[in-house]
This record gives sequence, C-alpha cells and structure tokens, in this order.
Amino acid sequence: MKKDIDWKNLGFGYIKTDYRFVSNYKDGKWDEGELSTDSEITMSESAGVLQYAQTCFEGLKAYTTADGHVVCFRPDLNAQRMAASCERLEMPVYPEEKFVEAVEKVVKANIDWVPPYGTGATLYIRPYMFGSSAVIGVKPAEEYQFRIFTTPVGPYFKGGVKPITLRVPDFDRAAPRGTGHVKAGLNYAMSLHAIVDAHKQGYNENMYLDSATRTKVEETGGANIIFVTPDNVVVTPKSSTILPSITRRSLMYVAQHYLGLKTEEREIHVEELKDFTECALCGTAAVLSPVGEIVNHGEHIYLPSGKDRMGVITQKLYDTLTGIQMGRIEAPDGWIKVIQ
Ligand SMILES: *Cc1c(COP(=O)(O)O)cnc(C)c1O
Repeated sequence: MKKDIDWKNLGFGYIKTDYRFVSNYKDGKWDEGELSTDSEITMSESAGVLQYAQTCFEGLKAYTTADGHVVCFRPDLNAQRMAASCERLEMPVYPEEKFVEAVEKVVKANIDWVPPYGTGATLYIRPYMFGSSAVIGVKPAEEYQFRIFTTPVGPYFKGGVKPITLRVPDFDRAAPRGTGHVKAGLNYAMSLHAIVDAHKQGYNENMYLDSATRTKVEETGGANIIFVTPDNVVVTPKSSTILPSITRRSLMYVAQHYLGLKTEEREIHVEELKDFTECALCGTAAVLSPVGEIVNHGEHIYLPSGKDRMGVITQKLYDTLTGIQMGRIEAPDGWIKVIQ
C-alpha cells in the first residue's frame, strides 16, 4: 500500500524510508550486501571520511510511469561515474552491475514510497561510499561502506517555473587536474561558503569559471549549464573539470536525435554570454532550471527568454526528456530500467 503522503506538497528534504542497502568492504573485498531497516551509522571516531573527507556519492530517481511501472533513468551511468569517483579518491570500486542490482533492490523494498504518476514527485535515490576504518596518518582507509538510501521528493518547481539569477563568483570550484570531474563530497563542502554568500547577495546560484584562466564558463555547484544560440544551436561548455552530468548528456542527445537541433560541446568564453538567447542549469533534481539573468561583477546580462518562463528550446528539451523518463515518449535503447 502506498504511504499516506501529500505527494503534491512534498519538499526536497530527507524523509526516512523503510529500507536502505548496505555493503561493507573489508580485507580487500566487498561482502554480499543486504537491505537494512537501520538508518543510523556507527563507526570509528577516526574514520577516513570524518578526518579526510574520503567520500563520494551519486543521485538518481525512480519514477512511476504513465502506465504504472516504476523505472530508473540510466542507472548504469551512475554506476560508471561512481567507479570513476572511487578511483580518483583511492576508494574500492563497487562493481557496476552490482550497483545497478542494489538500486533495483532498494527501490523495490521501498516501492510504497515511490510517488504516483502525475504528482510531479519522485523517489530520490542516494548511493554513497565512505572510508569507515580509522586513519590518522594521511592515507586511504582500509575499510569502506557503500550504502543506498531513498527519500521521496516533491516537484522541483512548486507553483510554476521561475527563471533564476546566476552570479559569476570570486570563488573557484575546481582546480585544473583536481577533483571537479568526480562526485566527491569535498567539492560540495568547499562550495557551501560560496553559495551562502551568493544567497546573501541576492543571487540563486554561482556560475563558476575555469580556475586556471577565469575566462571560460564551467558549471554551478551542483548542475551543468546549457545555452541556446540565436540560430537554435544547443551549446554546453567543454572542460576537464566539469562533472559529467547524466542529465546534460541525455539532453544533448535529445536535442540532436529527437528535436533535430545542432549541438556543440566547446569552450565558452564569458564575453559570449550576452550572445545567447537561452540558458538553463541541468541535473537530476530539476532536470532543467531556466536562467533569466547572469551578473558578472556589475555587468548584467538578461537572457532574451525573460524572467517569467522557460525559453522555447529549453521547454522542448524539458518536455521531451521528462516525457521519456515518465514513459510518455519512447526512450532510446537502454535508458529506462524497469524495476520488477
Ligand atoms: C551531480 C552533479 C551534476 C548533475 O549531474 P546529473 O547526473 O545530471 O544529476 C552537475 N554538476 C555537479 C557538480 C554535480 O555534482
């Protein structure tokens, strides 16, 4: 039986669900892993994650489709990306097929928490891993825990979409050859001051530049960016320090193969910003959030799509990708994992 929740008015916060998946790495190998009803974690006061932030995570969603199935969107890409994060952080990779199986298990176990079709709500899935054994000298931990919990989340845009304002901050997000391309908790810890400061100054998000030259656009603290040119080319920044968003990669495919639009992944210079007609952030949480204004140290750039609604191309991309996720539009092979 579905949980008695006011799905349409859910926010984006943690709600404890019945089961989480837990697997431990010890003596050089992962155990079988199991579902647990225990939402608390006990570990050494000197655990690698607590002392040196040895942790990474993923984020994806389970949706109820128009015909009543529960599905996940491209979980194999989350598995792949987490493997890359683990390698960069000297953590043991959780095998990719087992990652997908674990996602399936934990969603199935919490099936009553998956919001019904048409509510706009989804079940957010959070896989993560951390060094659990004690370290004091700086080195990788010897033991790790991999967990996946789920939490129902509401529609991202309650009461309609509102284009947001970005600022170009004086803070950097990712160093060249650093960890910007992996989903490490540490990238978020150090972005907190910048986002709190942005909010204090009245901006919604930071639009980070490449930290080597501070001339090229990268992404925000937790979302990639796409732009649209006056002749409807969908453009996204190319850089080795951007997190490879699954939503962005899917949108670029949708633009090309579903909407027949030209796409480009290339360097984007700050001076070009004034030439674009649309701009939007993309990520699992909101899919697309339109940008109405970008402020770069006193220079205000107003996107022609305005401050009331999504741009025309952004809207088409949004409708097509969410249509694919919700089962209203046929998906490319392998994009939809049905939970059964
Ligand atoms: C997770 C994340 C994204 C979005 O990735 P999706 O796979 O689309 O959810 C973008 N940028 C950063 C920095 C991220 O951590």
